[in-house]
Amino acid sequence: MSTFLLEIVTPERKVYAEDVNMVIVKGQEGELGILPNHIPLVTPLRIAPIVIKKDRSEEVIAVNGGFLEVRKDKVVILAESAELPGDIDIDRAQEAKRRAEERLDSKRDEYDHRRAELALQRAINRLEVKNRINR
Ligand code: ATP
Repeated sequence: MSTFLLEIVTPERKVYAEDVNMVIVKGQEGELGILPNHIPLVTPLRIAPIVIKKDRSEEVIAVNGGFLEVRKDKVVILAESAELPGDIDIDRAQEAKRRAEERLDSKRDEYDHRRAELALQRAINRLEVKNRINR
């Protein structure tokens, strides 16, 4: 099966760099499956798990927003933050979820409300990725 290089990069570090068969991401306009030789493309990503198919196995990574860039030589996901399942601290994500829900329940200005919504999405994303691995 043919492959392409997938890199997942955050401002802090390179989270992933492997030859893969396919990556499935959630773009702002819906789900997108990228196979080798896809046409060049840049698209914003949602805060959601991405699924990587590699050697008949599947990997899931929490990608917290950012961009997907399909280049001629590789596919790059530039994310605000991203975690492999093994790097996710469940207690921390549960605590972040609880805090965000608390902030959403209290009266806040629109900016704080949006920030809490995004924090909630990141926490749910991390918990979902961890959950999928344990299923
Ligand atoms: P928190 O409120 O717990 O810091 P957050 O969503 O605000 O969560 P981010 O700003 O997205 O955190 O990320 C800051 C750094 O901490 C990144 O390197 C990210 O990968 C890491 N990180 C955040 N939450 C977790 C977690 N639950 N497990 C492992 N790493 C995490």
